[in-house]
Amino acid sequence: MAVVSEQPSTMQSDRSLRERYLEVKDRIDAAARRSGRTGDRVVLVAVTKYASIEQIRELIGLGQVDFGENRVQQLVQRAAQIEEYLGRKHELGGAERRNLPDRVRWHMIGTLQRNKVKKAIEVCRLIHSVESLRLAEDINAAAVRREQPMEVLLQVNIAQERSKHGITGPAVRHLIDQMETMVNLQVRGLMCMAPIAEDPETVRPVFERCRELFEDLRREGVGGARFDVLSMGMSNDFEVAIECGANVVRVGSAIFGTATPESDANAG
Ligand SMILES: *Cc1c(COP(=O)(O)O)cnc(C)c1O
Repeated sequence: MAVVSEQPSTMQSDRSLRERYLEVKDRIDAAARRSGRTGDRVVLVAVTKYASIEQIRELIGLGQVDFGENRVQQLVQRAAQIEEYLGRKHELGGAERRNLPDRVRWHMIGTLQRNKVKKAIEVCRLIHSVESLRLAEDINAAAVRREQPMEVLLQVNIAQERSKHGITGPAVRHLIDQMETMVNLQVRGLMCMAPIAEDPETVRPVFERCRELFEDLRREGVGGARFDVLSMGMSNDFEVAIECGANVVRVGSAIFGTATPESDANAG
């Protein structure tokens, strides 16, 4: 009688994806508790830019519903593939479909080029990366056909890094005021990216400043009652971000593994 059976290699990677995912969920929960909340108050966006479609399907089977991409072409393609997959599963019925959601939510987290706005808003639930009045105007114009306003976050460049995208802190208030007349668009909050640092503690002040800006705006009523999303934290720093008040984190490599140097170089 075989006590330990050898696992085929795909099973092994399946199992480790599951383990990595559950570990990230645990770490989110622990960080949320340190900030006086529970893990279910923090939305995990699984960033799939380095993931395979099989890995995405497996994560859906584990209960994950929010996914993020940083390039429109891949976002649109994957949203279609997953929609088709879920449709097929639900049609077939059976035991497998019990844990599957009807649909998943896609987040556009990368720089959005103005000529790709139309495509992006067809599939995405939240755009994290609005960083100019012109982009906001384009989204508002394109979203006229949507049943509901397009929900967006403003990307803030707190650290004022030259290489990073985003609006400076003081300009955020002004942009939100300008967006008030855009009826097909709803500002839900802020997104920020910290500088890359080996020790995530060094970027804590960046997250703290973003949280302060977010709270100031809320106190002043800027953005209205639904201005309640603070998206910050990635694989390397999501725990610090949660401790600083993030309620959305965008985590890729900690779940799916590290990128190959090649895909790294291609990342937009
Ligand atoms: C890739 C990416 C992430 C996730 O990065 P990881 O370090 O792999 O977790 C988060 N946010 C944005 C905007 C990204 O482009």
